[in-house]
Amino acid sequence: MFAKVNSTAFILLGSNQNQPLLQLQHALLRIEENIAAIISASSIYKTAAWGNRQQPVFYNQVIEVRTELKPIDLLEKLLLLENEMGRVRHTKWEPRIIDLDILFYEGIISNQPRLTLPHPYLHERMFTLIPLNEIASTWVHPKLGLTVKDLLHLCTDPLKVEKI
Ligand code: ATP
Ligand code: CA
Ligand code: CA
Repeated sequence: MFAKVNSTAFILLGSNQNQPLLQLQHALLRIEENIAAIISASSIYKTAAWGNRQQPVFYNQVIEVRTELKPIDLLEKLLLLENEMGRVRHTKWEPRIIDLDILFYEGIISNQPRLTLPHPYLHERMFTLIPLNEIASTWVHPKLGLTVKDLLHLCTDPLKVEKI
């Protein structure tokens, strides 16, 4: 089978450090310049930090992109961009300048730790489902067989997600 020239993927952007709104804007520009065509973007949402609440609020946004990159190459480019933007990793769920997660890549399922698709927590997190639902409510989660809209209705995450 020929590789698809342009595959659809959804990416979650998150930031809670160094002027998060500017970081999100900067990441969007860099993605558009070097990584993928941005087809649509959700609103930006503000959420209390998930996992470790003793840190600044998070700002999140989901984008739909089209890319010629294979999933693993897309991930590598996103991780490189995180590094270039100054992200440093010490512990899990610490404050970060930028976090770029691949939520879906077409209907691909991957269970590798290096790249798990769909993103393993997307259905458990309101800060992911709410912006994702804004631009992809009818997209079907290939593992769970439910639409994003259904997942949103089933999600019990209590953290408040506020559109800014
Ligand atoms: P969480 O998984 O809870 O969102 P996180 O985004 O804080 O955690 P990171 O430290 O940013 O975790 O990433 C750790 C590793 O996760 C990355 O090096 C990457 O290889 C891997 N990873 C696995 N699946 C994905 C995915 N779908 N998108 C982005 N990274 C992924
Ligand atoms: Ca993440
Ligand atoms: Ca990440």
